Amino acid sequence: MIDPAITPNAIAYAWERLLDIAGAENLTPPYAYGPANTPFPEPGVVITPAAPDAWSRLLELPAGQLDWLPAAALFPSGSPLPFHDPVPILFWSDADRDKPPIGVRADGSIIFRVDLIAAALFMLTRWEEIVLPQRDEHDRFPAIASTAYRQGFLEQPIVDRYAMILRAWLQRQRPAWQPRRRTFRLRLSHDIDHLRRFETIDLAARQIGRDLLRAKSLGRAWQDAQDYLQARWRFASNPYLSALERFADQAESLDTQAVFYVLAGGNTLYDTGYDVANPVFQEILLRLRARGHIIGLHPSYETYLNPQQYLAEKERLQNALGAEVHHARQHYLRFRVPDTWRIAADMGIQEDATLGYAQHEGFRCGTAHPFPVFDLPADERLPLFELPLHVMDGTLKEYQQLSPEESLQRLRSMARRVAEVEGALHLLWHNHATVQPWTPWHKAYTQFLDEMAL
Ligand SMILES: [Zn+2]
Repeated sequence: MIDPAITPNAIAYAWERLLDIAGAENLTPPYAYGPANTPFPEPGVVITPAAPDAWSRLLELPAGQLDWLPAAALFPSGSPLPFHDPVPILFWSDADRDKPPIGVRADGSIIFRVDLIAAALFMLTRWEEIVLPQRDEHDRFPAIASTAYRQGFLEQPIVDRYAMILRAWLQRQRPAWQPRRRTFRLRLSHDIDHLRRFETIDLAARQIGRDLLRAKSLGRAWQDAQDYLQARWRFASNPYLSALERFADQAESLDTQAVFYVLAGGNTLYDTGYDVANPVFQEILLRLRARGHIIGLHPSYETYLNPQQYLAEKERLQNALGAEVHHARQHYLRFRVPDTWRIAADMGIQEDATLGYAQHEGFRCGTAHPFPVFDLPADERLPLFELPLHVMDGTLKEYQQLSPEESLQRLRSMARRVAEVEGALHLLWHNHATVQPWTPWHKAYTQFLDEMAL
């Protein structure tokens, strides 16, 4: 495996990310990514680099073998700890392994012997997804193949935690300095995969057939027939559509915007093929937009590698809205790094919201902060932000098979971890996940939001 070249561009990007998350973007201490004795005109910060082959060694490290340190060992003594769990060390610096992980030089400069730059680049650029071959049945990089999952830190916003450690040392060095703090935010997003339970009479007939033949349930067949007929004759008030305005109400009561991702094409088995120009639906979208919510594109199953199709769908949605579209999340979270980022950026998308795992909640990119995308192989920044996704409805109920109560606990603990690093907790709840068999999980979600409003 070939380790990536850590260029000056990449290093500048990583510093900027760490300082921004630390709320230190306006502080300009002299800083260096180099030897511990780098000279400075005034006290600065040095991060000493890991060995050049450290990246591939990290991938090859057996599961559960990473070094972890107690949080207190990484903060200046006596400084308040924003979090208390032990912290994994992704990359030790190559030199001075016998010295403490972080120390202060005689001139007051802070010396990191933990390579925060490499860790930030490793997590944010998703380099491992480029070089590792594992894929699931939808050609997605699976959570279980990731270093974060294998080494047990997928539930830690590790980049943000490193930035909080950097902040604490800067505060110790400059007692008069006040970091810029962000408050905890929620990002509530909703992929609209369906406009009603059965899009066509064929789909309804097939389900009713299954009810009768396989489940041998006349009651279910009757209920499904009713669902189909009601959504056919009273489309506008069918539960999949009425959920949309309720999502908007929820967001407003939390003083935030909801984001709705809309399919505008796709003809695989995994696409539902509803018509984005349906006048009833179009009117709802315009109403949501008028209320200040965001309508984004939900590029269909094949678009993650198909710019022509991506563009056609974006134009179809823009025509339906009479407005430009700047937000997107890939259907099925299908994504290839860096190709899908490049396609989105080329299409004029400003914010992609795909990077979470379907199989597991957590921090795929190691962060709860939106971040500008850096294409590591091409050594350049893209004009696009990634808004990493943290928890999806289906992850809780289907992939992890959690009870509603367990789902609520997961949501709470994710919120706590995001709040500790002043980030934005990014949730995905589908409009179809508001009715049976989802009702108890939707209730847990609603209860979680109610708690957040307090
Ligand atoms: Zn979808």
